[in-house]
Amino acid sequence: MDGRLQPATVCIEAGIITELHFLKLGEAEDTGNNILMPGIIDAHVHINEPGRTEWEGFDTGTQSAAAGGITTLADMPLNATPVTTSENAFRQKMEASKNNLHVNVGFYGGLVPGNIHELEGLIRAGVLGIKCFLTHSGIDDFPNVTEADLELAMPVLARNNTVLLAHCELDAPQPDSLSGDPTRYSAYLASRPKQWENEAVALLIKLCRKHKCAVHIVHVSSAESLVQIAAAKEEGLPITAETCAHYIYFNAEDIPDASCIYKCAPPIREKENNRLLKQALLNGVLDFIATDHSPAPPAIKEIESGNLQKAWGGIAGLQFLLPASWTAMKDLSSLDKFIPLLTEHPAKFIGAGMKKGRIAVEYDADLVVWNPDQYWRSVKENILFRHKISPYIGKDFFGAVQQTIVNGITVYQNNSIIQKNAGQWLLHR
Ligand SMILES: [Zn+2]
Repeated sequence: MDGRLQPATVCIEAGIITELHFLKLGEAEDTGNNILMPGIIDAHVHINEPGRTEWEGFDTGTQSAAAGGITTLADMPLNATPVTTSENAFRQKMEASKNNLHVNVGFYGGLVPGNIHELEGLIRAGVLGIKCFLTHSGIDDFPNVTEADLELAMPVLARNNTVLLAHCELDAPQPDSLSGDPTRYSAYLASRPKQWENEAVALLIKLCRKHKCAVHIVHVSSAESLVQIAAAKEEGLPITAETCAHYIYFNAEDIPDASCIYKCAPPIREKENNRLLKQALLNGVLDFIATDHSPAPPAIKEIESGNLQKAWGGIAGLQFLLPASWTAMKDLSSLDKFIPLLTEHPAKFIGAGMKKGRIAVEYDADLVVWNPDQYWRSVKENILFRHKISPYIGKDFFGAVQQTIVNGITVYQNNSIIQKNAGQWLLHR
């Protein structure tokens, strides 16, 4: 409360926090030495339903989120079919999520070449922002935009006070490092250099300044891009940026070859680079941590072949946002500084800062109880997302979720989902 950890009793009525008392009330449920904090908000998730539900669906995805202490997630406009680039497609996605909202879910719309006329319809329908790619997205029905497309779209978004989320990699011709041995991680890392990210970020900052359109850089992995993000913020531009748990929990030096579970774009980089990302989270250059949960079935992930060139780029990690981030940050950060990176900051980003992300009267009763000192090893059997394929399996963590409360209802407790459908749509108004 008030940005500090302290003993308190939280009273909840009809899904809303109604009273706070800084002492224990007689009949209150006692969380012992565990921490009660605002529910986690994962602002970057790929659920893939409708159309690619065999990759991940709302049912499995939102149960996994609850098990990870996440009470609200924001779903990306790809890789469902249809992609969310029209109001009609958005309605189909909402329909597909009905009766499978085990946590709260919001949605982003997509910007692709030729759909500018759809943007205002998507915004009116309640999307939390508009996402685009500056390089191939991985699926052909969500093509990347060019600078010319952005010149047309950004004034529309600025006029509607809607944030543009951008996957920042601008590919330039370079030697094909994967042509020799496509199972070498170092070759994959070299195939997507920091330069690609740095140049894309520079382009977005330039356009942000020109159009006064809010820009959010998703999954920053190149620490070299931090200087220009810091300068843009200093200048007062409406720019925000996230990194992901896998960029700070893992390091390239430790990634085995032929292990496609680690493949994502941009790639997981070197330890020294990642140390700078962690620092940037603490000094405000990076605003929050998300998962970019982007699962795929085993064949598409090339589990057998280990071919990093052919494998789907995306890491499944929805359930691990809290423990992976805390394990990565605990030696550098107090809980007081760490908790807002998963709660208050992403809540503000998705436009829910007035009712989510804090424990305060009149805020939604989205809460998580967890033990930051508990040390544990993850096992496949406890994973609730669809395909039990993840670099986080078999790894060690600090921080275990005990209980997840969504809109005042306990959804997850004692390693089990105990109540379904407690979530709601989160639409931007
Ligand atoms: Zn993504």
